[in-house]
Amino acid sequence: MRIAADFALLSPTELATDVVVEVHGERITAIEHGRAGACDSAVELLVPGFANVHGHAFHRALRGRASLGADFWDWRSSMLAVAEILDPDRYRDLATLVYRELLLGGYTTVGEFHYLHHTRDGSPYRDPNAMGVALVEAARAAGCRYTLIDAAYLHQAPDHGEWAPTEGVLRRFADATVDAYLARTEELSEGATHRVQLAGHSLRTCTPSELVTIAQAARRGWHLHLAEQHLEVEIVEAALGARPVALLEHAGLLGPELVAVHANAATAEELGTLARHDVVLCACPSTEEDLGDGPSPAANFHGLGGRLAIGSDEHVLADGLVEASRLEAHARLASRRRRGLDVAALWTALTAHHALGWPEAGRIAPGWLADLVAIDLHDVSLAGVTPEAIIQITTPARVVRVWVGGTEIVHDAAVERRELAPRLDHLIRTIWKEIP
Ligand SMILES: [Zn+2]
Repeated sequence: MRIAADFALLSPTELATDVVVEVHGERITAIEHGRAGACDSAVELLVPGFANVHGHAFHRALRGRASLGADFWDWRSSMLAVAEILDPDRYRDLATLVYRELLLGGYTTVGEFHYLHHTRDGSPYRDPNAMGVALVEAARAAGCRYTLIDAAYLHQAPDHGEWAPTEGVLRRFADATVDAYLARTEELSEGATHRVQLAGHSLRTCTPSELVTIAQAARRGWHLHLAEQHLEVEIVEAALGARPVALLEHAGLLGPELVAVHANAATAEELGTLARHDVVLCACPSTEEDLGDGPSPAANFHGLGGRLAIGSDEHVLADGLVEASRLEAHARLASRRRRGLDVAALWTALTAHHALGWPEAGRIAPGWLADLVAIDLHDVSLAGVTPEAIIQITTPARVVRVWVGGTEIVHDAAVERRELAPRLDHLIRTIWKEIP
């Protein structure tokens, strides 16, 4: 297959004009400059597919329901009500449509931070990984590359410094012990387009020593919700005697294999510690806005030499370019200056497939996976904008076509957006009707 592009972003710092990208099987085999020879497709701007490094598919059901609560903790109650009623079949149906929406937003690799493991009473399904398997099937049906980030949720958040066993819907999340968690996740298989990573849900639900066990077992890196809310940090500090970053550093858990999700409640000193240890920080700006987490410190972290990734988390937004532009906006609003994240830093963060265990994705170069996104530049909102700078412009729905592993997965995004809308709308409304 040969794709001709007026412009192609070969790497975060290299925009080429008049390029032909040659693909055999799932890989890119050659880049030709100039437009000689016949081509199968012609596009305006070709960019590497985006990596959605952090998300929870079922949170999509809460989009547009901000009136459900005054703060993060009220929102969390609504989120738990949705979690209460999902079973593997329903979750597969929902996730398939959600992942399809993410593909339409340019995300060719989806990372699912998965903690909804068990039946309503907390006992395991006959296949203890039934929910995770349903999610993998959803990704396969949607056509995205996928990483199931299976998260350990071992305790109820400590109250006044005391740990307690999980109660109510939280029992659906919990494995009995860290060893039970590892035994369960050991049974998860990988495939040509899906891989498995481990995670601790947070320091509210896993102790540092349990996280050490998880990190030691992780072959493709591991993830952790780090410091999204100040109250969350205070709960951890009251229970464990120190803030999350200090606890992780003391336990020897900071390193390049850790993807820390959210650092809105981290101090400047803590950001420096994370950057020094080469931790990847995954920012989720649209969710951090929606939940009132405060601005992302991504630009400060980048300035300290830290590596960034991007996630859409609760999927209040499903558009990689807009998500990245929000990260830039956070930087400017927080600093009251115009210098935030430059264009190359934003593209680097949006294509951080390595954080999902796919280091061979994210570039348009021979040998790399042919995960590609074609972008429409002929919109009045982009008139006068240089092609690589579109990542700074908040104009949605510019993705036209999407390839994953050399296969065209989305042929006409505008048409599919209209087709997908009633299906996802119906499913989400059905879910809410069932919530008491
Ligand atoms: Zn999350």
